[in-house]
Amino acid sequence: MKGNPIQRVIIAGGGTAGWMTAAALAKLMGNAGVSVTLIESEAIGTVGVGEATIPPIAKFNAQLGIDEHEFVRETQATFKLGIEFNDWGGLGESYFHPFGRYGFDLEGLDFHQYWLRLRELGDARELGEYSLNTLAAYAGKFLKPEPDHGQVIGQMGYAFHFDASLYAAFLRRFAESKGATRIEGKIERVERNPESGLIAALALDEGRRIEGDLFIDCTGFRGLLIGQAMGSDYRDWSHWLPCNRAVAVACGKNGDPLPFTRSTAREAGWQWRIPLQHRTGNGHVYCDAHLSAERAEEILLANLDGEAISSPNHLRFQTGHREQFWAGNCVAIGLSSGFLEPLESTSIHLIQMGIAKLVALFPGSIEAPFERAEYNRLMTDDFTHVRDFLILHYKATKRDDAPFWDYVREMSIPESLKQKMDLLRSRGRFFKYDAELFDLTSWLAVAEGQGWGPEGYSPVANGLSASNLSQSLANMRAVYAKTIDAMPTHQAYIDRFCKAARPARRADAA
Ligand SMILES: Cc1cc2nc3c(=O)[nH]c(=O)nc-3n(C[C@H](O)[C@H](O)[C@H](O)COP(=O)(O)OP(=O)(O)OC[C@H]3O[C@@H](n4cnc5c(N)ncnc54)[C@H](O)[C@@H]3O)c2cc1C
Repeated sequence: MKGNPIQRVIIAGGGTAGWMTAAALAKLMGNAGVSVTLIESEAIGTVGVGEATIPPIAKFNAQLGIDEHEFVRETQATFKLGIEFNDWGGLGESYFHPFGRYGFDLEGLDFHQYWLRLRELGDARELGEYSLNTLAAYAGKFLKPEPDHGQVIGQMGYAFHFDASLYAAFLRRFAESKGATRIEGKIERVERNPESGLIAALALDEGRRIEGDLFIDCTGFRGLLIGQAMGSDYRDWSHWLPCNRAVAVACGKNGDPLPFTRSTAREAGWQWRIPLQHRTGNGHVYCDAHLSAERAEEILLANLDGEAISSPNHLRFQTGHREQFWAGNCVAIGLSSGFLEPLESTSIHLIQMGIAKLVALFPGSIEAPFERAEYNRLMTDDFTHVRDFLILHYKATKRDDAPFWDYVREMSIPESLKQKMDLLRSRGRFFKYDAELFDLTSWLAVAEGQGWGPEGYSPVANGLSASNLSQSLANMRAVYAKTIDAMPTHQAYIDRFCKAARPARRADAA
């Protein structure tokens, strides 16, 4: 093998990004002669938010060999079937973005084309009536789809809401059991080799010095290694996604947790509600050019389901990403690599993508120009695809009740998004670019839900007679209704398989 092999991976930071990376690398590289060391500082702490996820996270846990029910129990998690959006298309309007598909395709054509045709024939039923996820979410039901459950329940996609600090602690136990080493300490300086420019070591408080071959920057928004030491610039997207602040607070439970996240648009941003087993997470994401921090907090606290049980946590962020995710021998994963606001719960997924690509491109030696270039290309694509989908939520609004909404409704958008929106609007056509994350269901749910849905349908849908079509769709509705009837409630499922064993500790609420 040419060059200097990588034997020591140093992970700087122990938030969700740090421990997900440590868990994956310790499991996959531990037997390949690579040591994994994580440095974190309890005094600095983590960002303390990040509780809603999207379905691919189940694959991450499965690849580590983690038992799903144990993970749910240990992190006070609940199941998430999608997101309810209120007041986004217009005040008083509501729609659901489901994690499972709509209907069944007929004659090789997408289901929604037939639904569009039937609508043109006068049938006013909503798309959600053909979504198992939407119906189950509003009925408060959940059943984990297993391979022998059949085609209908197989349509159910799900993710989790969980306590981020418990997830990091859970992954820490896992990573340490696979041989990862944790060092408590504050990184004070990043030492670079004056000739190669590569990072040689991290200097910690109390004079300690940790040498390594490959350094993973998981230091959060600080970007201590990738930004401050390696000088990778930040590509700013805040002209398209202008929200740049958030305030988060936990509140007590109000009844059984619902199996979905709620996002409610406010005058200059939006508010999330994330139900966990022991409490509810809430936050208000907003744009400081249109709303003060005091007013944002006031709006949040006035719209909680229960009594606040933590102090409001104010955060600032800038939407965008590093020009280089991987620079020299430093790979940025997590908030250090970039941030897209949490509207579709994509940050932890982008961590997962960073780890998957790092593993797929894990270099044979420290000098890895081809791997680095490919990693940077792939991660830029991932961020760009998610960015476009998020902008859709703001652009496709009819709201004209506040300057913030006027700005986002009228703003110019990236060409890549414009093309997608035009194609979808004309006859409901959608094609994924490369390994794009969000699929037809997601784009259709948001566009249709916000009044930007298709104006026509594919002529191919005329191939079925109107009566045939009407009957087929009625059959689908009947099958869904029967399936929902037979499902346990979300709470009953949790009680039976994965109820958190211990009562919530005070620290969990903070
Ligand atoms: C308002 C908001 C809401 C969000 N909601 C969601 C969501 O619903 N779903 C989702 O997927 N994501 C969400 N995210 C993103 C999510 O919180 C992050 O992706 C995730 O927590 C990972 O953070 P991190 O590990 O990169 O950084 P952090 O949690 O900030 O961790 C940084 C680590 O680096 C350490 N560190 C920093 N400096 C030093 C130093 N000098 N020496 C030693 N250690 C150091 C810290 O101690 C800490 O351990 C949200 C983010 C925000 C801001």
